[in-house]
Amino acid sequence: MTVPGRRAAALFVSDLHIDAAHPQIAARFHEFLAHDARAATALYVLGDLFESWVGDDDPDEVQRGVIAALRELATHGVPCFVMHGNRDFLIGERFAAASGATLLPDPVLITLYGERALVMHGDALCTGDRPYQRLRATVRDPGWQRRFLALPVAARRALAGAARAGSRAHNASLAPTIADVEAPSVAAVLRAAGVGTLIHGHTHRPGIHRFDVDGIARTRIVLGDWYDTGSVLRWDSGGFELV
Ligand code: MN
Repeated sequence: MTVPGRRAAALFVSDLHIDAAHPQIAARFHEFLAHDARAATALYVLGDLFESWVGDDDPDEVQRGVIAALRELATHGVPCFVMHGNRDFLIGERFAAASGATLLPDPVLITLYGERALVMHGDALCTGDRPYQRLRATVRDPGWQRRFLALPVAARRALAGAARAGSRAHNASLAPTIADVEAPSVAAVLRAAGVGTLIHGHTHRPGIHRFDVDGIARTRIVLGDWYDTGSVLRWDSGGFELV
């Protein structure tokens, strides 16, 4: 179902933060999956698809609906790739099997239409927020995750709720700039990957930033959240477009 006059494109989204309390976000994503995404060459979800994910064993009704819709997209031949965000980093292989999506590591280098890009959720670049980076190191530890996932679902839910409340209090206490990416960290990952383009979400500050690192032109594309409207990056043979 290709739209006439439009090149087939890979689509990137992030930070949907789907949860039962905000049904309009899930509805918007279902609409996107049933229409725009069907014409895509691939769909990349760069983290925080869900507001909370405490394990693959107990998705709620809204989450099951998203899994079914992703499966439907895969059935239509559109490959879907899902990266962890800071909210849903416990998405695992059972989710992947049920949804037909492939889990991506963070960061990952992808090549599309002969161009290479480094793709991340983005939270790892917010290195100015040291308490968050310490928390991130803890909860991404496989031992911590094993222990957490061994807890009963009700206990996991309670802990995740307490962590979100703590995170809200923490973010409110910081100047807004601290929660953005740090330029030296962006330069470091681009330099290490040897690429000109970085795509990420997380900061909810959509935009396309052009700058130099080591005298080489670079581009940082930031996806927006889905609270009020969708935010989609189209990448086709003609280039990038953030819509
Ligand atoms: Mn995030």
